Amino acid sequence: MRLPARDACAEVVSCPYCTTSSPLYFSFHSRMFHRCHSCGLIFDGQWSEKDESYITYYQNSYFDDHARAQLSGQRTAIYRHALRLLQRHKKPGSLLDVGCGCGFFLQEAQECGWQVFGVDPSEKSVAQARALVGENVLCGTLHDVPSDQRFDAITLINVLDDMVNAWIQLEKLHDLLAPEGIIYLRFPNGSFHSSVVRMARMLFRTQLMNPFVVFHVYAITPRTIGRWLGDKGFSPIRISNAPLTGGTELQDQGAVVRGARRAVSLVTETVFKGVERLTCGRWVWGPSVEVIAGKGRGCHRP
Ligand SMILES: [Zn+2]
Repeated sequence: MRLPARDACAEVVSCPYCTTSSPLYFSFHSRMFHRCHSCGLIFDGQWSEKDESYITYYQNSYFDDHARAQLSGQRTAIYRHALRLLQRHKKPGSLLDVGCGCGFFLQEAQECGWQVFGVDPSEKSVAQARALVGENVLCGTLHDVPSDQRFDAITLINVLDDMVNAWIQLEKLHDLLAPEGIIYLRFPNGSFHSSVVRMARMLFRTQLMNPFVVFHVYAITPRTIGRWLGDKGFSPIRISNAPLTGGTELQDQGAVVRGARRAVSLVTETVFKGVERLTCGRWVWGPSVEVIAGKGRGCHRP
């Protein structure tokens, strides 16, 4: 395993994926993010120190911190969109949702005819998911999924950028896919969120945009995910702008912030989808990215 330098305050640290020296790009709530000019990865310079704390957080605290959003069903539209996209490329078969939470996506998939499996580190979430879709929900991480199992489809919805060594997780996904299987990924677009923060600070010297951006262990860019998936043997790969959640993560913030987030979401989604179409899919710069990637022939080119 390649490790970055441990000194998070250093101006330059090694990219954890390709080891290229990566300068400090911006700070966000006392966290130092660096950008690799070689592979495009934007990463928290302290990531290696966060491994256990991140897993512990998702085991013990995530459910309570986000229970209302998890239980409210406000992401149903996102889940149905992901299923429609999956089913353009694959008939319903076996499906594993990694980081399945309370199982609402699995429930939607089950109703569409998929045989569903889930894995999540939170015991509370897993109990909810089992009540919804049955016992095929494992309490643990991706690496607890038995390596001899195979799935026709694997989904990670707003999960990958929170996984330490995300590229190694992609290797495990590739191994778990049945021949001609496909994966669906959704995550915040690192290019968009980092640019918003940097532009707001440079032009207006303000941190008011902070509630509108998302940073976890990594800020994954379209260029980075394309390289990771290609390196791990996925093909074909389709990367595009994803429809937005409209601010469901901001329920603890005021009505003004939530309303502004929804308005910004609507405008940005429309603009960036338009730009993506005009550039024939070459410019994917919206707030959220989705990816369909196949394992060999049989996955119709998206
Ligand atoms: Zn790199």
